[in-house]
Amino acid sequence: MAKPKVNKAPEKMEKLTSLCKRRGFIFLSSEIYGGQSACWDYGPLGVELKNNIKQLWWKSMVHEHENIVGLDAAIIMHPRVWEASGHVEGFNDPMVDCKECKRRFRADHIQTETCPECGGELTGVRQFNLMFKTHIGPVEDSASVAYLRPETAQGIFVNFLNVVNSSRQKVPFGIAQIGKAFRNEITPGNFIFRSREFEQMEMQFFVKPGTDSFWMDFWKDLRWKFHMRLGIREDRLRWHEHGPDELAHYAKSAYDIEYKFPFGWSELEGVHNRTDFDLKRHTEFSGKDMSYFDQTANERYTPYIIETSAGCDRTTLEVLCDAYEEEPGEKENRVVLRFSPLIAPIKAAIFPLVKKDGMPERALEIYQDLKTDFHVFYDATGTVGRRYRRMDEAGTPFCITVDTQTAEDDTVTVRDRDSMEQVRVRIADLKPMISNAIETWTRPETVDIFDVEEE
Ligand code: ATP
Repeated sequence: MAKPKVNKAPEKMEKLTSLCKRRGFIFLSSEIYGGQSACWDYGPLGVELKNNIKQLWWKSMVHEHENIVGLDAAIIMHPRVWEASGHVEGFNDPMVDCKECKRRFRADHIQTETCPECGGELTGVRQFNLMFKTHIGPVEDSASVAYLRPETAQGIFVNFLNVVNSSRQKVPFGIAQIGKAFRNEITPGNFIFRSREFEQMEMQFFVKPGTDSFWMDFWKDLRWKFHMRLGIREDRLRWHEHGPDELAHYAKSAYDIEYKFPFGWSELEGVHNRTDFDLKRHTEFSGKDMSYFDQTANERYTPYIIETSAGCDRTTLEVLCDAYEEEPGEKENRVVLRFSPLIAPIKAAIFPLVKKDGMPERALEIYQDLKTDFHVFYDATGTVGRRYRRMDEAGTPFCITVDTQTAEDDTVTVRDRDSMEQVRVRIADLKPMISNAIETWTRPETVDIFDVEEE
């Protein structure tokens, strides 16, 4: 059946943003003071979701590869790092201001000669450095300047020799890191898509020059598969290859994975061939030789780097957009977040049908037992129907209800988030049931009012 052609994208983002606030996924930073724009706080459900994404990334990038190790470098680095990396000189975005309404735009993001908001005259283009500057110590002079890191990658590059010397890794090998990065974006927006403080999940893979094209293909393949493991619809993902005008000065080739967000196809993460640029620059600026002696080949070279660089917040937004569905209902629509159980913040909710006849006690016993293996939630408030709806909005795959029959035969009712079917399950079978869903879930065929072709 052909999908109806309407543009429901702004409505979907609005609904998703309000659900995120209502259910405690994501709040605007410092909201009681009017909000700090482009900075976001993850609430009780949001932090679980984001942690699950980070854990899956860490597992798939570090623990599943004997030749990748982790790192957690400081956010504030020596200022020379940012000279060597090219950020002090070149990490700029072109900016224009409207002389009438005073709004500010990225010159490369607007198509018009005049202000896209009010039609007013624009200033000339000025270069604006995106790094947040600060000072270390009590004296604010040029000698004390420091920057909040705009990417986590440099922490990895400057530790290359430390890792080689301490971990006995041999090229090819990788170093992975998850951490905060900061960019003073001129035009942040689209909820958590572009913010000023965000988290990156980066893995830099050091290879022998000449083998870089092989490793580029290898990592492209694995990064795509990561999104499959997250349970993302494959037809909402695509590759974008950087053309000659987009390619960073140090890059030999670069590909981005893009997701079809409600506001359009946009970058999630990049797989880039950074060549030997970074290690050579740090050799030049620090005076420390960052080359590598390859004992097998009996030769010395500066490794090439294949970078996989993903935004944690963008991946969280991808997961939320992919999971959010509204099923048409007779009285009202059912809002449901169809997360893969692997990353769902809560795996199961446990309810007593009513607050008497020993049901709360039995439900709490089940809760205590399940919580040793999974993040589960106990809820005894409101009608069961309302409790189901709350858990649909939290994206919880199972609701487990203790009822009158439980005392007779040690079974409970399990309601499935996706099919809404209810089945009786033996209490002893609950753990294997949840584990099985975590391992084998696939997205069901659904009817979603937002699953429409864009105009
Ligand atoms: P964009 O073109 O969207 O500004 P970029 O190409 O500058 O992004 P990279 O420097 O390659 O991004 O950073 C790697 C990843 O970090 C991006 O793919 C994205 O997921 C994430 N990222 C970058 N900037 C931001 C931001 N301001 N807010 C949230 N995530 C970001």
